[in-house]
Amino acid sequence: MGHKSWLGLILLLFTTLATGGGVLADGETPAARDPKQPVDEAYTAKIRKYTTAPYFSSPLVDYLPASKTVPTPEVVLGDVAGAPGILPYAEEVYKYMRLLEKATPRVKVVSIGTTEEGREMIAVAISSEANLKNLEQNRQHLAKLADPRTIHLDDAEADKLVSESVPVYYITGTIHSPETGAPTALMELAYRLAVDESPYVSEIRDGVITLITPVVEVDGRDRMVDLYKWHLAHPKDFYPPLIYWGKYVAHDNNRDAMGMTLKLTQNVLNTYLGWNAQVLHDLHESVPYLYDNTVGDGPYNAWVDPILVDEWQMIGARNVADMTSFGMPGVFTHGDFDTWSPGYLMFLAAMHNGISRLYETFGNGGADTRERTLQAEEYARTWYRPNPPFPKVLWSQRNNNNYEETGLLTSLHYFNENKRLFLRNFYLKGKRSIQKPSAEGPAAYVLPADDPRASVQADLLRVMLKQHVEISRSTTAFQVALPVKKEKKSAKPADPEEKPKPAAPTSRDFPSGSYVIRMDQPYSRVADALLDYQYWSPEDPQTTPYDDTAWTLGELFGVQVTRVTDSKVLSVPMERVTELHSFGGVKGEGALFAIDNHAEPALASLRYRLKDATIDAAEEPFQSGDRKFSRGTFLIRGVSRSDLDSATKTLGLQAVALATAPSIKTHLVRAPRIAYVHTWISTQSEGWWRLAFDNLQIPYDYMSTQALAKIPDLNAKYDVILFPPVTGEASAISIVRGTPNSWGNPLPWLNTPETPNLVGKNDSTPDMRPGLGWDGLAKLQTFVRNGGVLLTATDTSQFAVALGLVNGVAASTSEKMKIVGSIVGTRLVDAASPIAYGYDEKVSAYCDNGPIFSVTSIIGARRRHLGPEMKTRPTGRGTKDDPDFVIGRPASAIPEEPENELWEAPQPTDDQRFNNPRVIPPADRARVILRYADSKDLLIAGLVESGNDIAQHPAVLDVPSGAGHVVLFSINPVYRGETENTYSLVLNTLLNFDSLNVGRKDADQK
Ligand SMILES: [Zn+2]
Repeated sequence: MGHKSWLGLILLLFTTLATGGGVLADGETPAARDPKQPVDEAYTAKIRKYTTAPYFSSPLVDYLPASKTVPTPEVVLGDVAGAPGILPYAEEVYKYMRLLEKATPRVKVVSIGTTEEGREMIAVAISSEANLKNLEQNRQHLAKLADPRTIHLDDAEADKLVSESVPVYYITGTIHSPETGAPTALMELAYRLAVDESPYVSEIRDGVITLITPVVEVDGRDRMVDLYKWHLAHPKDFYPPLIYWGKYVAHDNNRDAMGMTLKLTQNVLNTYLGWNAQVLHDLHESVPYLYDNTVGDGPYNAWVDPILVDEWQMIGARNVADMTSFGMPGVFTHGDFDTWSPGYLMFLAAMHNGISRLYETFGNGGADTRERTLQAEEYARTWYRPNPPFPKVLWSQRNNNNYEETGLLTSLHYFNENKRLFLRNFYLKGKRSIQKPSAEGPAAYVLPADDPRASVQADLLRVMLKQHVEISRSTTAFQVALPVKKEKKSAKPADPEEKPKPAAPTSRDFPSGSYVIRMDQPYSRVADALLDYQYWSPEDPQTTPYDDTAWTLGELFGVQVTRVTDSKVLSVPMERVTELHSFGGVKGEGALFAIDNHAEPALASLRYRLKDATIDAAEEPFQSGDRKFSRGTFLIRGVSRSDLDSATKTLGLQAVALATAPSIKTHLVRAPRIAYVHTWISTQSEGWWRLAFDNLQIPYDYMSTQALAKIPDLNAKYDVILFPPVTGEASAISIVRGTPNSWGNPLPWLNTPETPNLVGKNDSTPDMRPGLGWDGLAKLQTFVRNGGVLLTATDTSQFAVALGLVNGVAASTSEKMKIVGSIVGTRLVDAASPIAYGYDEKVSAYCDNGPIFSVTSIIGARRRHLGPEMKTRPTGRGTKDDPDFVIGRPASAIPEEPENELWEAPQPTDDQRFNNPRVIPPADRARVILRYADSKDLLIAGLVESGNDIAQHPAVLDVPSGAGHVVLFSINPVYRGETENTYSLVLNTLLNFDSLNVGRKDADQK
């Protein structure tokens, strides 16, 4: 439809509304402009011009009210919000918001922190002048509702506060940088909320404080605007994909609400809780045209209050109804997004007694107006989408802005109309969180004072503090009763020979100083959700989990967390902890200091920090006086006591001076020179590794596969090449080849006048397309042959296997198996390997479908059997245990077949060995460090379906290759700031790079 022909239709729509269309209940205010307020005619004409069809607009946004004093977004943008070709930088958005603040007492702008690259984040409050004047008193009222303990859980007092308080509705835009529409929509929304005198908008302004963070991922926004400008300057060329968003991660910046590792997550949560907001509404773009996906689909997160589920349904349903009544197609709220994982930014609200909401609107990844063709499932009419999007449509950024603003205005209006209910629910959800111990439980989580991994325990507690969870510390030792697990009665009669199982303990003692996370606090919900276990049934009707199915932080950090249901724990004497006390340091006097190894990542930090100290690793456990030290214990010389004391206090490590050196074998622990490699395909998964390394202050040279390939002698510069995962999609060949460059133009990732923000503190290239290349691959191989260590994980391990960087390892996948971001059990196979230092026999790990490793002792060998495998004796003479015979000849001795476990390489038979150059010498065979647990022990949390396919297979392999090693991970050991338990498998590899063969049983066999 042409642009001109629909002006008439708009009028028709108005008439419909004026004659009582829509979904208004008695006394509700219609969505219509104030006829007495003049319209900004020029601006309005452009809105209409840039909207591609009348039904992509609404009576709320198809005009702009005029103001004599308040500037419209046009003063900064040079055009209207959503105009083609216009994408403002964050700074321009802020400039406009601050102009608004200057022009009207209805707008207030606050700084809420900075990003990793030092850019500012802001929040803009819009409300009536009276409300903004009264902010502090209102905040105090809301704070009491947020923490019902302050009013002694008195419902009458709460009702009074509910009737006196103005609620806060917090909107966040553009966390996902290629989803570009929100900043301009939010600029215009701020203007409307400040200026529009229609009853519909005035009521919102008078009744609600709208809080807006127009750009959440500020670093990524500025890069995205750069790219868009490059695209405008080179309209016929392909433009580079947005490879970096924030400094560390891309799309996963919306998966940080558990680990709280990114500044944007911390800043948004602090703002949300600081303002005691009721709603956090996060704006995204992918699905046509507006999918309010909070209602989504099951399974819902088990820890959200049913009150919240009702609120989602209420707001979602009304939102769809309002927009449908405006005649806007493609608005729906059910869909295929499950609301299980609490990792999304919006879920900060769901986990802190608020209302989480998320919009997917339709965006073009920039401000071009484009013809868009949808997939069949996107335009199909379904029960929950009776008015679906069109199969083909001309779509503009203005359309997107119309949908976002209309959705938000109707939401705000509905929220205001029902704010007493929502405020009362806000209080009620807080009250129910406080009542958790006497309702569903538990009473508390306890982290014992004597956890050997004190520094990791501290890191987990710091995550809780960032979540605003209250932590206490007991001032005495105490005991709690443990719940008694009911034994399943066996249908079979009891076997008299079977020994009775030892009785499970009925109580547990905790030492003084243990940490207690009480559940009688307003934010018990988030602590419970993060510390409890998750179970996703393989029978769940939802067959495609949207994200991880498990996140039990005690398991992923490898620290002891006890779920205590015994409410006596709440009366243990304890003190609030607002900051973790410093611990660690040096005990005793002497020139040799020992730090026991419990696989704490801080050990690696210490090695780099004490550059001049000599550090040895104990290759065996030992005892000194009455103290026992485990394998891998650091033995430190050549550092002053005071330097060591300050370093270990900062890192939370305990050093002990030894009177005499233990008489055991040791080897030097050296700080390797690390080449840290990324592709130009994706930097997301490796970004989480980079973040972990930066937090641990471990230095590395960050380089692309292209740059690696250009280094003439890798061994001269580096000891270890770290190649973290790319993404699930990167094939071995794509890592080598990159993006095809036989056609098209170079894709530069460089700072230029058009793109001043692209590089930031990351990497650059004149052309993103080339990959590692075959020369680069050869260099990697030479590096390892000459003694270097290459460390890979998940898809980069598949790359190393597929391209022959290792011998005797196969990596496969399983069609049936579903381990979707789950926590699985693994078992130490070779505790003598330095990679295993500090670990116990059982290690919980994050796994996302493997790959499935198998090791062989013959190159190219497959475990293949012709005919059925013979596990028992064949049919013949005698009893089951007797040998068979052959008539007419003496019995022949049956050669003993070497038994092997599934994770081991089968020993070649004499026959296989004969004249076979493909038999790998024992010292060159893969060494299995860690394997997946047996099938029955595989699932720790989340979803494990057909786990048998990976059960017992190797999880971490150390494969000798020439003079060097390739260390392959099937698990992802470093992930989203949540998996500190497995960090040291990587760090141990680094610190023992030149001693990996230590403890190898077959190292000397040839
Ligand atoms: Zn998104």
